[in-house]
Formats: sequence, structure tokens, C-alpha cells
Amino acid sequence: MPRTVFTGSTVPPAPGRDDQYFWAGVAEDRLLGRHCAGCSYLQHPPSPMCPRCGSVDWVVTDLAGTGSVYSWVVSQHPSQPDEDARIVALIELDEGIRMVSNLRGVELADIHPGMRVEVGFPEVGGVKLPQFSPVRENSQHEGRR
Ligand code: ZN
Repeated sequence: MPRTVFTGSTVPPAPGRDDQYFWAGVAEDRLLGRHCAGCSYLQHPPSPMCPRCGSVDWVVTDLAGTGSVYSWVVSQHPSQPDEDARIVALIELDEGIRMVSNLRGVELADIHPGMRVEVGFPEVGGVKLPQFSPVRENSQHEGRR
């Protein structure tokens, strides 16, 4: 895979053996995880060996891309001193794994634990990244109330 030249304000990912599948998914607007081939343990972040059974065989699977906010911080100086602050959040995906990402399309004061969010794949500083934003009111919960 050719090295990406760093020109924008976002430091591009440098995929390795264990997370190449993840970034290949992002390039296709897909949020991917992987199950252990031995015991089905769903893993994130990726590491070479299953922490539960020791297997090194994995099966890549599509994740729903929905979850809830578990925790968050405001990063005042993300990668360069003059850059806008961004909200770094730990998202608990509906599959039960947690993922560090950014929250977009929401005011800081409106964020609360358990807030429902969904993934999108915008370009941020020239790099396509999985980013989470609040679930639109009538996309998933339509008809409940
Ligand atoms: Zn396993």
C-alpha cells in the first residue's frame, strides 16, 4: 500500500497487518470489526492474537455503525496548535465493543452519556475517517412515539 503524504491537518492512519481490514472498510464507507475464528470473540481495537482463546485467525464482519456515547473529552489541540478543538469520544457500539472516534454535528452541552449516535465517513483534513454524530430523530426511532 502506498504511503499517504501528510498534507492536510489530519495525521493519516498508517495501517499495519492487524488493522488493514479496518481502513480498507473505511475507504468503502463500511465500519468493520472482526470475530475470532476460534471462539467468535468480537475484537476492537485489533491485535494479532485472540485474548480469549489464543487464535490468530479472524473473520472480518460488518458492524451496524450505531451505538451510544460512553465518554468524551474535548481535545483543544488535536494535531496542530491552531486547529479547532474536536470532541473525542468513546463510543459503545451496539455489538458491545468500544471505539474511540470523534463526535460531529452536536454541541458540547448537548452531549450526554448514552446518547445514540451513528457512524459516517467524512473527509477530515483530507483524510477519510469514521466519525459519529447523533442519530437523526426519525431515522431509527420512527413510529415508536
Ligand atoms: Zn478466540
